[in-house]
Amino acid sequence: MSKMPVLFVGHGSPMNTIEDNEYTRTWKEIAKTIPKPKAILAVSAHWYTKGTRIMNEATPKMIYDMYGFPEALYKVVYHAPGSPEFAGKSKELISKDTVFDNSWGFDHGTYSVLCQMYPSQDIPVFQISVDGLSPGETHFEIGTQLRSLREQGVLIFGSGNIVHNLRSVDFNNAKGFDWAYDFDDKIKNSILDRDFSTAVHYESIGDSARHAVPTPDHYFPLLYVLGASDESDKVSIYNNSCTMGSLSMTSYLFE
Ligand code: ZN
Repeated sequence: MSKMPVLFVGHGSPMNTIEDNEYTRTWKEIAKTIPKPKAILAVSAHWYTKGTRIMNEATPKMIYDMYGFPEALYKVVYHAPGSPEFAGKSKELISKDTVFDNSWGFDHGTYSVLCQMYPSQDIPVFQISVDGLSPGETHFEIGTQLRSLREQGVLIFGSGNIVHNLRSVDFNNAKGFDWAYDFDDKIKNSILDRDFSTAVHYESIGDSARHAVPTPDHYFPLLYVLGASDESDKVSIYNNSCTMGSLSMTSYLFE
């Protein structure tokens, strides 16, 4: 089996679940360019917990953790099965303490992108939570420990936003604030130079980091993907842009 790529997607608005726009068309294109996964391991910004939790049920439920959106969005059901098998393997690979937890389900970090990438909904999907108590190094390290799943046909998929500051969102701004571009570009250079220490220790970037990552829930999924990448991977950048002032849609594929 060929080694699966690893993918980080900036998911942006929950409306991307059902809209047809430049971002969602790109997500569809990515799915066409990579091998069909045997299973998808999703690390979504929206499952932000104390400690690392792993979903291992056969039929995960839906989680509608967004408010004030059109009714149609709350009717979306992503029918993919779970993957108790790869959830179990993941638990064995991760050295830090983890627990199985099926109180969560598919959240919009996961299904907004997968509804577009894999509308057939037939690939097993499971989520690993983002431990809000752990620093960047820990998230990166978990990614390195999961890397071998790539050889077993698993797509490691992080879903968040490198720049995500909801308090600063300006719905009338189609672009980003200067600090948003500054942070997004510094992370991009860190990735292109394969000098991941800047990405892992993003706080050291200073002012723009404080604005871009007021809380790390949407940022940390990137670190799993960087950890799971290896030096022979070619990196491709998609949706390299900021929008609504304080969101970055920039996405990375390593293959
Ligand atoms: Zn989000």
